[in-house]
Amino acid sequence: MRQVTGKGGRRGVLLGIRLGIRLGVLLGLLLGGATAVRAQVTAIKAGKFFDAEGGKMLANQVILVKDGRITDVGSGLSIPKGAKVIDLSAMTVLPGLLDMHTHLIGPPNDPDPLHELQRTSAQEVMQSLPNPPKVLLAGFTTVRDVGTYRALTDIAMRDAIARGDVVGPRMFVAGAYVTITGGAGAVTGFAPDVILPWDMHYAEANSPWEGRQRVRMLAGQGVDFIKVLSTGAVLTHNSNANAREFTDEELNAIVDEAHNFGFKVAAHAHNAAGIKAAVRAGVNSIEHGSYLDEEGIQLMKQHGTYLVPTLETGECINAASGYPADFLEHSDRLEKLSLENFTRAVKEGVKIAFGTDISVCPFGFNAREFSWMVKYGMTPTAALQAATVNAADLLGQTANVGSITKGKYADIIAVKGDPLTDIAVMEKVQFVMRQGVVYKTP
Ligand SMILES: [Zn+2]
Repeated sequence: MRQVTGKGGRRGVLLGIRLGIRLGVLLGLLLGGATAVRAQVTAIKAGKFFDAEGGKMLANQVILVKDGRITDVGSGLSIPKGAKVIDLSAMTVLPGLLDMHTHLIGPPNDPDPLHELQRTSAQEVMQSLPNPPKVLLAGFTTVRDVGTYRALTDIAMRDAIARGDVVGPRMFVAGAYVTITGGAGAVTGFAPDVILPWDMHYAEANSPWEGRQRVRMLAGQGVDFIKVLSTGAVLTHNSNANAREFTDEELNAIVDEAHNFGFKVAAHAHNAAGIKAAVRAGVNSIEHGSYLDEEGIQLMKQHGTYLVPTLETGECINAASGYPADFLEHSDRLEKLSLENFTRAVKEGVKIAFGTDISVCPFGFNAREFSWMVKYGMTPTAALQAATVNAADLLGQTANVGSITKGKYADIIAVKGDPLTDIAVMEKVQFVMRQGVVYKTP
């Protein structure tokens, strides 16, 4: 028995050692494998290369990517042995684009917010699922999503994309619209005896302290920035784009509270007085800015406020069917004026960041906005910078996105042709990489 026990003991030790060795080998393999995956270098050969920071086109650059980040970029870089090579030498390579005004939640191109009452929150989100992949494959690797009628669904979508459950752009989200009751961000047009669910009026505020409280609630839910509406809207019932919403006192409180949490603030604003009130309150961007006047332009320059024009939306509203008559009337009134005011803002040097209001125009056609920006006064270089370095600055994400620079995320796209001579080539993006992962190849 002793012997057997002894043998058994020795066997046990031997088994233990063998198992240990096997486990060690297995662990080694696993770790080695993981290390190999982590150490995998991708080298991208760029024929033409848009230097977003310098605002110029370079030739024959090599970009090295590891662990989702850009590790080096330049001409004449040697490609490390074993690197995976992506040859884009026949193409123009650009940083992944940023759209600062999207609405990814909701069924594509739904013309009437009253339809919100016909869907559950779950249906709303499930019907949104085709939207993010379309935007990513169009070359937009980062978006600032500026509001949803179903509060906090955008947070769920942002996190699902970050986990890899849904393919889409990196999202920065507002959580809900900070709006007055019956205002531009409210669900309106129903009978007054209808009681809305909590998430359709989550961030409605009607006093400075209510404004602060809404910002605090949103902060607690993990939003990335605050969206406030300081004038009426086009695509909202009982709303007048040329009316102010919120008092100075309310706007000051909301922006002050947002800044306390380190949030930037985006203000939807058409009416000139509403634009100026938001700029004076210290918002970081004016969305749309349709009735922007000379005083507003000077104020924006003084405060360094970005304008996020959404130039194509009027055309998309006209082209679509099913928009309620009151929306079409709102749109007609401000379309021409907003294009003229954009041209003036560009000429006078207001900072511009790219935005589409996508959901009004079809998802995946975000890049058509470039042609509108160029047609109404921007150079192709400036339009591309609006969707790269400027947008990254507005987002407070210059360390991570907006240019192909060492240390930033490997968000890289490519087009055929030269966008500086024909901006429309941006509408046919051939290659998309987000954080080192390729989603589209020529
Ligand atoms: Zn919008």
